[in-house]
Amino acid sequence: MEKTLSIIKPDAVKKGVIGKIIDRFESNGLRIAALKKVWLSRQNAEAFYAIHKSRPFFKDLVEFMTSAPIVAIVLEGENAVAKNRELMGATNPKEAKSGTIRADFADSIDANAVHGSDSVENARIEIAQLFGSFEIL
Ligand code: GDP
Repeated sequence: MEKTLSIIKPDAVKKGVIGKIIDRFESNGLRIAALKKVWLSRQNAEAFYAIHKSRPFFKDLVEFMTSAPIVAIVLEGENAVAKNRELMGATNPKEAKSGTIRADFADSIDANAVHGSDSVENARIEIAQLFGSFEIL
C-alpha cells in the first residue's frame, strides 16, 4: 500500500489543531502507520529541505521548522501521496481550495500548517529521514 509523509508544522501544533488535522486524514481513508512529536534540529531541517537550499526562502523555512515541535506522520492508503496533497491544498493558503487543511488552518505561505511528500520516491526518502522501519506499523 502506498505511503506518504505528513508533517504538522509548528504553527498548527502551537494552535492546538493536531487532532483536527489527523481527523482529515482518517476520515478520508488514510491510515496512520506511524506518528511522533519531535523538535527538529537545524541539521535535521536543513537535510529535510535540502532540495530548497538555493531558494530565497530557505533560511526562513529552516528557522520556522525548528521554532517549535512538529508532528511527523506516515500515512498509508490508496494513492496516499496524491490524496494527502489534495487534502492539504495549495502551498499558499490564500490559493487553497475551501475545505482543505491549509485553507482552514494555515496563516501564510511560511506558516502553512502541513507538509506532504510530492512523489512516491520523495515519500520513501522523507519517511526514512524521520522514522526507523520498526516504527512503521
Ligand atoms: P509544499 O510541497 O506545498 O509544502 O511546497 P514546496 O515543497 O514548494 O515548499 C516547501 C515549503 O517552503 C512550503 O510549504 C512553504 O512553507 C515554503 N515556501 C515555498 N515557496 C515559498 C515562497 O515562495 N515563499 C516563502 N516564504 N515560502 C515558501
